[in-house]
Amino acid sequence: GSTIGILGGGQLGRMMAVAALQLGYKVIGFAPEGDNVAADASSDFITADWDDAAALAEFTGRCDVVTWEFENVPLSTVAAIPQHLLACPARALEVAQDRLSEKAFAASLGGTPAPYARVETEDDFAAALVRVGTPGILKTARDGYDGKGQWRVRSALEASGVRFPGVTCIYEVFVIYETEFSVILVRGKDGSVKFWDSTANLHDGGMLAQSILPAGALVEAQVPAARQLAAKVADALGYVGVLTLEFFATREGPMFNEMAPRVHNSGHWTIEGAATSQFENHIRAICGLPLGVTKTRFEAIEMRNIVGDDALRAHAILAEPGEPHLHLYGKREVREGRKMGHVTRVGHAIR
Ligand code: ATP
Ligand code: MG
Ligand code: MG
Repeated sequence: GSTIGILGGGQLGRMMAVAALQLGYKVIGFAPEGDNVAADASSDFITADWDDAAALAEFTGRCDVVTWEFENVPLSTVAAIPQHLLACPARALEVAQDRLSEKAFAASLGGTPAPYARVETEDDFAAALVRVGTPGILKTARDGYDGKGQWRVRSALEASGVRFPGVTCIYEVFVIYETEFSVILVRGKDGSVKFWDSTANLHDGGMLAQSILPAGALVEAQVPAARQLAAKVADALGYVGVLTLEFFATREGPMFNEMAPRVHNSGHWTIEGAATSQFENHIRAICGLPLGVTKTRFEAIEMRNIVGDDALRAHAILAEPGEPHLHLYGKREVREGRKMGHVTRVGHAIR
């Protein structure tokens, strides 16, 4: 098709739209009212609620293929889209929108999540503290991102200070890990799969701060098993496009944390650092084009998020040595803890 519809209006959609425009496509976005920074890079953008049937019909009527940049698009919205337009089966969203279902799904395919329990009530929470133990983390099963909707529980005693939020939660063991890493793959319509190198991911307060290559020996040793799981997940979902799985590299091997059925913050380095970026390959995949080579172009790469009011000083980064690549998302509102942009620095080219 020649017009790509993107559900969601954030920075992932913005960078996806830039890649799509470069390949000659038109892009129409769709998202509810908000700081829809994808609109700046789109040919057109429809602002409407997810359940606005008329607006959705107008959107889909103008698209040749529809994808998403936001994993919490309501399933009812996706169900209302003519199914032949969907680049990827909605099942991927369904599984990934719920931490309990994504962990069960990964486990059913041979993955190892941290021990966890479903928590529907205060009593479930008390029982989970005993069964799963402490330290642990209570997370809302749905809608969490950037570490929001999570409460760390250091000890059973301290648990009394954590209020059960009254929605379905998961309580999981606090994992002792050496490094976090992600597997990012792209799967084409023909089922072919390519992986980018896995970065070591550093978080700050539950939010990604930095992604680094090389990721270190432990991660490198665990990447093959993690990739195997990611490929099984992608195959089982009939996935098309970019898919991300997050892992903890523990002494016992890769522990599955969560999946994102989309391009991912830990893949932003691929714009300058890989032969083909995650954004371009996502577009290629959903449009049925040949996938691009994913190989890393530099011996060392660092991607760092620009968060909150650091964005106000971000242009100063351009004066720093080492030719930093600055990306600002054009968000109108600067808020503490909000991802405003990122900067990628690369080392010597691999020859
Ligand atoms: P994202 O923004 O990646 O979607 P999220 O809000 O969905 O994040 P998680 O990825 O589950 O939530 O958790 C955020 C971060 O909190 C993790 O990357 C990790 O650093 C830390 N964390 C989460 N769960 C655990 C755990 N069980 N043990 C140790 N650390 C954890
Ligand atoms: Mg998440
Ligand atoms: Mg995560």
